[in-house]
Amino acid sequence: VPEGHSVHRVALQLGADLAGRRVAASSPQGRFAAGASLLDGLVLVEAFAVGKHLLVGFAADAAPWAGVAPGARLSDDGPLAEARAGARWLRVHLGLYGAWDFHGRVSPIGREAFGVGSIGAPRLRRAVRIGEQEGELTDDGPRAGAAGPASAVVVGDFPPEPVGQVRLRLRGAETVADLRGPSRCEVIDLPAVRALLDAAGPDPRVDHWPDPEATFVARVRARRVAVGQLLMDQSVVSGIGNIYRAEMLFRARLSPFVPGTAVPVETLRALWRDWVGLLDLGIDTGVILVREDHDAAQQEAAIADRSIRFAVYGRAGEPCYRCGTPVALADMASRKLYWCPGCQTG
Ligand SMILES: [Zn+2]
Repeated sequence: VPEGHSVHRVALQLGADLAGRRVAASSPQGRFAAGASLLDGLVLVEAFAVGKHLLVGFAADAAPWAGVAPGARLSDDGPLAEARAGARWLRVHLGLYGAWDFHGRVSPIGREAFGVGSIGAPRLRRAVRIGEQEGELTDDGPRAGAAGPASAVVVGDFPPEPVGQVRLRLRGAETVADLRGPSRCEVIDLPAVRALLDAAGPDPRVDHWPDPEATFVARVRARRVAVGQLLMDQSVVSGIGNIYRAEMLFRARLSPFVPGTAVPVETLRALWRDWVGLLDLGIDTGVILVREDHDAAQQEAAIADRSIRFAVYGRAGEPCYRCGTPVALADMASRKLYWCPGCQTG
């Protein structure tokens, strides 16, 4: 299951290369033909993520969206509210196996940690590959080191033939975005978008909750459920998956088994602020970076080398970096939970 940073990066990529552009929408696989026909020929006006949901607005005229931050203040009344109400909204949840592939002009986003193809390559293929074990972005395309935006213009076959089961293809003049394997893909209206936001726990990158930190604290404190489970509850906080859950609790020295009602307010406030920073770093780099013992050089190494990236996740039985106790593994609500019984005692 992708964690929040990955979905935010998909939204940024769509924003960079297709926003403001009229797109041809199709379903090469056929399963989303009716939905795609609702979007075909419209302008992609707004793309944003709320936790693990991707929301993309399409309208006939992009003018009302000029200068608007994607996803900002969706519940407000005002000139844009009318335009948004008239828009069509694509909602995608990638689930376990979903992924987006971008072809053609693919602008670097975040820290440009990913190769953007090589000049003269017959086809540029950047992909967002997300799986249960990885939970993060990878790049399965040709890599050419530190290429800049100019070199991301591809000569050769464009648009490329769809490969495999492409549920939805969005094609602009220079960029194609292919969606495959989502668990949800549908066209909804603005009230449904707002309802989704209202039901979701706060996402640090979305301007919707008046006080997201207080909302998070209140929602955890309202439940007797273990905090390790609440962090992955998307109605408590948006975007945290199994890796961030384990690593954030480790960083906080907090036992995953403490009931939400018993976690001190100050601890929860610190957890929220930690998530805000970690999410930014994940969006910036495309990988889950959480090692507080890493200096800048080690962090760079961890971007390339997954084996040194985590303190507890995937390290069952290995000694804790902090206290030497073997990292423990348990089942919590049918998901693997990693933690250190030696130093996560808060
Ligand atoms: Zn420890």
